[in-house]
Amino acid sequence: MAEIIIECPQCQWRPDGGAYWACGGCGHIWNTFDTMAQCPKCGHQHERTACIPWRGGCNAYEPHLDWYKNLDDLLQEELNTISQKEKILLHYKI
Ligand SMILES: [Zn+2]
Ligand SMILES: [Zn+2]
Repeated sequence: MAEIIIECPQCQWRPDGGAYWACGGCGHIWNTFDTMAQCPKCGHQHERTACIPWRGGCNAYEPHLDWYKNLDDLLQEELNTISQKEKILLHYKI
């Protein structure tokens, strides 16, 4: 299983686990990467995620999924796993 790499699509700043993001709906502050940009308080799903300039980042405001650098690899692994399961199922049907 590949490790998920999270970094800013613009400046490659990597979130350090701190709570720097405020919910646009209720103002709750949390680490948006803990919940894939969904507010843990009101459930609002944020499509874009801001970079944090005062923690060494830039002023980018990018789609949340763009922050997951190797997401395509992870999806590919997931698809491979699924197709292997299907092969096993087919085997038993025959
Ligand atoms: Zn909220
Ligand atoms: Zn940035």
